[in-house]
Amino acid sequence: MAYKYIDNYRERGARKKLVLELQKKGISDKKVLEAIGNVKRHYFFDETFWAQAYLDKAFPIGEGQTISNPYTVAYQTELLHIQKGDKILEIGTGCGYQTCVLLELGAKVYTIERQEKLFNRTIQVLPHLGYKPNFFLGDGSKGIADHAPYDKIIVTAGAPLVPQVLLRQLKIGGILVIPVGDEKEQKMVTVIRVGENDFDKIVLDTFRFVPLLGDQAW
Ligand code: SAM
Repeated sequence: MAYKYIDNYRERGARKKLVLELQKKGISDKKVLEAIGNVKRHYFFDETFWAQAYLDKAFPIGEGQTISNPYTVAYQTELLHIQKGDKILEIGTGCGYQTCVLLELGAKVYTIERQEKLFNRTIQVLPHLGYKPNFFLGDGSKGIADHAPYDKIIVTAGAPLVPQVLLRQLKIGGILVIPVGDEKEQKMVTVIRVGENDFDKIVLDTFRFVPLLGDQAW
């Protein structure tokens, strides 16, 4: 790992500006903004690209995948209404930036990634930064039944539909946040499990994610 973990005035200033930008774009949950302000996004970039780290943009992380733009991370996080101690399943660990935001909010995170190279990198970087989720390698479109049920489930890749198996892994009162659509664009969807067999679905704004691949997806 060639990164130098240095957080100087330039990065701290850029992070503060990013938080203000997200606030202007409509993110209002103070705790979510604070979490974004705490996670050093430049640590997920090669030093050559640190100037890009606090722009509200997605960026390649290798293996054809991306670190989501901060607005998308904040938007999905806000929809989860995280309480300290919530047990959260995150599908699509990627470089682990979103994972860190969830951990900053006091959640207990189970995160799964299907790309082995990304998985191997992230399981080294996050603990080094002091973040300790439960990591899994595999197809997250099926969830992780062994650790279910979850208070919240977040999917960070675009799915063709809401995998039913994920709904079954939610606690009653639990929330699933997932982008659903075709390969070009998706609508952010939240599903709340209001009863054993009752689910409330809300369709929100349009986003563009890399595809969720796997048994219950593309
Ligand atoms: N959450 C990351 C972040 O903080 O920047 C970005 C995730 S990236 C947009 C989506 C990730 O989902 C990719 O790393 C991709 O390999 C992963 N992915 C796609 N399908 C998956 C599946 N079935 N199970 C687990 N991970 C999957």
